[in-house]
Amino acid sequence: MDTEELAPHVEEIARALGDKLSEEKIAEELARYIDVYRLSIPMAKRTIVKRYGGDTSGFETGFQRKLAELRPNEPVVDFVAKVLSSNRKEVTAKGEKKEIVFGFLGDETATVPYTAWNTEGLELSKGEVISVRGAYTREYQGRVQVNFGNRVTIKKEDPSTIGDVQVAQGPPRVVQVDGLREAMGYVEVKGRILSVEPREVKVQGESKRIFSGVLADTSGKVQFTAWHDFELKEGEVVRISKGTVKAWRGIPQLSFDDRAEVTKIKEKFPSIEELQRTGVRMIAEVASRGGAADASVRGIVVEVRDGSGLIMRCPECKRALQKGMCKLHGRVEGFPDLRVKAILDDGSGAVSLIIGRELTEKLADITLDEATQRAREKMDHGVVSDLLEERLTLKAITTTGSITSDQYGLSMIVKDAAFATVDVKQEAEKLLVELEASE
Ligand SMILES: [Zn+2]
Repeated sequence: MDTEELAPHVEEIARALGDKLSEEKIAEELARYIDVYRLSIPMAKRTIVKRYGGDTSGFETGFQRKLAELRPNEPVVDFVAKVLSSNRKEVTAKGEKKEIVFGFLGDETATVPYTAWNTEGLELSKGEVISVRGAYTREYQGRVQVNFGNRVTIKKEDPSTIGDVQVAQGPPRVVQVDGLREAMGYVEVKGRILSVEPREVKVQGESKRIFSGVLADTSGKVQFTAWHDFELKEGEVVRISKGTVKAWRGIPQLSFDDRAEVTKIKEKFPSIEELQRTGVRMIAEVASRGGAADASVRGIVVEVRDGSGLIMRCPECKRALQKGMCKLHGRVEGFPDLRVKAILDDGSGAVSLIIGRELTEKLADITLDEATQRAREKMDHGVVSDLLEERLTLKAITTTGSITSDQYGLSMIVKDAAFATVDVKQEAEKLLVELEASE
């Protein structure tokens, strides 16, 4: 990806970050996320802004999104969808006769009606998959309608870039939290709200208040977003009917708006404390509590950071040496150690991980001796960090340990770690393939 192409994105990130990071550094980071980690441009931009504590709300428009996430009156929307129907008809607009193309589009989350106002050279056939940039939305008969105007670009995609088209209508499927999967249409779940916080996002340049948090039952926890104020309160038990499920890198998230039915229920249900003790927690929920004594989180390793790999430690105080020097003890004969510093993101938030030797050996499938051997052969410690980066980046893992919070965000000294279930990994990989294919 060349620098010129990335320049406008660098500027946008710089605006969102204020003076937190130089443009030069932003350009470097962005190139790395795109070329090395193979993230899509929007995903890379958001990750960087999030990581350095900027405001990502301005990035919400113009992102490639699922159809279920589209709202009326958005000036710019990008998405990938399948053409479910395509019809031509002549209409009279402003006294002039013109031809329009209209029909339905679908993806794994919803179907929406569309209208194309410029039909010259436009060929849309049923069954085709298209990626769309710069469409806009209106409301028509109570539902979102997508419009292709002058600024739209439509690209044909390989049909395999999209999963089964979902018609989100009919009765919702009643599931437990751990049964939530992308592409299941309307769902109904019951759970206790472990946390909920209002958030401002920009929709068509206007601020909109949405509510996100964590919902739990005995089977698991899920990050949710409510696009309507249902006056949800922490601790309440609710039944949410007609929600939809989208996935962030394979991790399901619950989304619902004013079409959903939310009922507060008063029946026996496990307490917040009981629900927290079981299973994996969402990073956002841990963050809202300022940390956790002992928690498991599951997410994607979005970055293996500098300082990972083979390091030398001071024999006296165990500090990592910098160029053979200990801060306290000066020049010493160090002993080798292996560690990973990484960023884990579960879609609700991110946490810095510090993974010690034993777990690093297990996850990266290399022993300290083998690592030392390789570094010696190549006369370069960098080969080990490269290998760790290659083996861990963008993998789904579950980690357990205490999570603390400071001005730089959350961090966890990992006590236990394992690759997440095959299920999640496959979903994440599938999604990654889709992301890459749709660029
Ligand atoms: Zn020392």
